[in-house]
Amino acid sequence: TDTAAEFPPVDKENNARENNVAKIKVVVRKRPVNKKEIARKEDDIVTVSDNASLIVHEPKLKVDLTAYVEKHEFCFDAVLDEHVTNDEVYRVTVQPIIPIIFQRTKATCFAYGQTGSGKTYTMQPLPLRAAEDLMRLLHQPVYRSQKFKLWLSFFEIYGGKLFDLLSDRKKLCMREDGRQQVCIVGLQEFEVSDLQIVKEYIVRGNAARSTGSTGANEESSRSHAILQLVVKKHNEVKDSRQNNDGNDSKGGKVIGKISFIDLAGSERGADTTDNDRQTRIEGAEINKSLLALKECIRALDNDQIHIPFRGSKLTEVLRDSFVGNSRTVMISCISPNAGSCEHTLNTLRYADRVKSLSKSGNTKKD
Ligand code: ADP
Repeated sequence: TDTAAEFPPVDKENNARENNVAKIKVVVRKRPVNKKEIARKEDDIVTVSDNASLIVHEPKLKVDLTAYVEKHEFCFDAVLDEHVTNDEVYRVTVQPIIPIIFQRTKATCFAYGQTGSGKTYTMQPLPLRAAEDLMRLLHQPVYRSQKFKLWLSFFEIYGGKLFDLLSDRKKLCMREDGRQQVCIVGLQEFEVSDLQIVKEYIVRGNAARSTGSTGANEESSRSHAILQLVVKKHNEVKDSRQNNDGNDSKGGKVIGKISFIDLAGSERGADTTDNDRQTRIEGAEINKSLLALKECIRALDNDQIHIPFRGSKLTEVLRDSFVGNSRTVMISCISPNAGSCEHTLNTLRYADRVKSLSKSGNTKKD
């Protein structure tokens, strides 16, 4: 059980900060038009109206084949256009959560969207920036005296199975302990004390994602990659156990953590009618996990007591991030080109259902 002495004093300023950070935040990021799309003279059909809303201009045909455009307007916590840098993405999404990781917060940041919409481009720099800020805080006197340390792990869920990306893709399994804590048996966690090491682990983990026989993009678009940064209170007594073991794992007691999840391409969830059996199975698994994820975040948003995390491996793994003092940021990535219209609308509808803020969300305006 937690004792007050194990945590830094919760001052008024911290309390206010904690309460000010939205429990769930849904952000949309539009990527720039790429060279291929320019060469194909494809229209940019996404207009970012202001920093919280956008319009999709869907090209359609009437029965008599006359062309017309159907407008769809959506509203989110933030909408970032193609000029927004990765640094700004960090400031809007993850940075506000960082201080409250030390207040026993479990946070998750997802990148959702079709393959090629910018999930990896968006997600990759975030853990490094977060680690930089977490390390800066760790060195502040109040935390230094608490002997807090930062730990990193990086794994993948592929076809419903877990693989350690920092340990030769070793297959991992999940176990629930008596306290309903989920732990991933055998997951390697590394203490990280400088940014260069964090960078090396990120590069190593990402390289391990692409070792599949079908090629980097094919393979990684079918998996969820999960990088976790965990703040732990350092154990004075050396712990000889090598396993990641829930709350009392290697290195000490978990204070707070943040998970960065580069989700499988959302269009892969529709691969359930593919001719290839393996592809169908993987598609069904992805579909299940993205649906379960949406339901869990909705349940969080509605302060439901029952969170349906058993719906998929992904949500089971993230179970401890859906209970207690949790924060969730969903970054929905969209492509601007007309050829991606259907996927873009699907992504925006998914994001809208995760957290319906709409003034006019998902209503058509012609
Ligand atoms: P995904 O992970 O969703 O499959 P990627 O992150 O690999 O997509 O992005 C696809 C391509 O688009 C990459 O070449 C990437 O560099 C580029 N890209 C994506 N988003 C942006 C952006 N905001 N600015 C510039 N290039 C981008």
